[in-house]
Amino acid sequence: MGKVPRILSWRNMLVLSLAVNFSLVLRILNGTDGRNSSYVSIWPVVSTSLDRTVYDNKWPVISTTASESSSLSSASCNYNETQEDDDRIVNLKLGDPTVYERYWREMGHMTTMVIPGWQSLSYFSDNNNDICWFLEPELAKEIVRVHKVVGNAVTKDRYIVVGTGSTQLYQAALYALSPHDDSGPINVISASPYYCSYPLITDCLKSGLYRWGGDAKTYKEEGPYIELVTSPNNPDGFLREPVVNRSEGILIHDLAYYWPQYTPITSIADHDVMLFTASKSTGHAGMRIGWALVKDKETAKKMTEYIELNTIGVSKISQLRVAKVLKAVSDSCGNETSKSFFEHSYDAMSERWKLLKQASKTSKGFTVPDFASERCNFLGKVFRPQPAFAWLKCEEGIVDCEKFLRERKNILTKSGKYFGDDLSYVRVSMLDTDSTFNIFLHRISSSFNSTL
Ligand code: PMP
Repeated sequence: MGKVPRILSWRNMLVLSLAVNFSLVLRILNGTDGRNSSYVSIWPVVSTSLDRTVYDNKWPVISTTASESSSLSSASCNYNETQEDDDRIVNLKLGDPTVYERYWREMGHMTTMVIPGWQSLSYFSDNNNDICWFLEPELAKEIVRVHKVVGNAVTKDRYIVVGTGSTQLYQAALYALSPHDDSGPINVISASPYYCSYPLITDCLKSGLYRWGGDAKTYKEEGPYIELVTSPNNPDGFLREPVVNRSEGILIHDLAYYWPQYTPITSIADHDVMLFTASKSTGHAGMRIGWALVKDKETAKKMTEYIELNTIGVSKISQLRVAKVLKAVSDSCGNETSKSFFEHSYDAMSERWKLLKQASKTSKGFTVPDFASERCNFLGKVFRPQPAFAWLKCEEGIVDCEKFLRERKNILTKSGKYFGDDLSYVRVSMLDTDSTFNIFLHRISSSFNSTL
């Protein structure tokens, strides 16, 4: 009899120890190691080449347990519950689309895939595609499907060219559309405020084919030019048309944000060259996949040639993963029982914009653009654009808005000067995590008095 309790306690200890270790491993694998708890970072601030604060986004300083672990019927996080940490630098310079993480954490199983080692050996994806031979047929199918479901772009009789992000496709389009004779570099222009990467990408190799020509609104030069039309626009979110409108103009439409979570889908876009990206449509920026819908066969061939010369194609694994993600998105749109990706992401953006506008009214230190409401053919309702970025203007006599927010509020933003505009403007990402957005909101709601 005396032996029984001793054996039981030994076994109990073993089972208890296994259970504790197993649950710890599970927590780490599920990424719940502190994410949902009130956790203040002790990580040092390390700058990467993208000037990103490493600890930022990793360890929220607010508790969002209830909403983050709840069902997706509520898109919202608890933005009221703020536990400030004044030392934390809030980095909203880039449009890193982590706002979608909550959706994909819950729906991610739909997109999980196992890829055996014998796959993706060949450079080639589709022997039947005589234009873009590295485009995975499954991705092509899902691109066409998602555009049909949303009704935001024509795909019929269009050539699809896949790229490593739409950044590569932008360069491929410049290569394809520039004259290859000895007429010298063609000017590439866009109306300010324009996407800050355009001038940098255009001029980084000092190409003999094309060069940055500046603000389309003040462009006066004769002869052919390429105009970039970004609609909705990065940074200010407005829908755009070309501004120069001369017969020698060649247009590239960057439609990265023409999705219903950002703007009402009012018509089916139908342009010669249209660029899209997984980065902003589904939030999978890290997969680095973009696609171009191209009307002209020769242009599509030339774009393909550029990607061939540049990277000999595009990662098949990434293409297959984006195909799965797009399939999950399209499937979710026809599913009556659960919220679609676009309904969820629409609600998330809508809530953030509502709070930002409230903060603007309360603080009076800054303004954000005023948008007109339009009817969205896809969501079937009337709403105002709720862009991926806030084009924020400092008031109260603040001349350099970026400097003010950095020095007084510990908020990193991108100055208006990089977009061909004024120092009183900054671009602020609206796509970051709930916790980062929450702290941002809290900080900008307080006084903007520059003498503070
Ligand atoms: N175009 C616009 C207007 C963008 O805002 C971005 C991303 N910031 C891109 C293109 C690049 O997207 P990708 O991640 O696909 O290279």
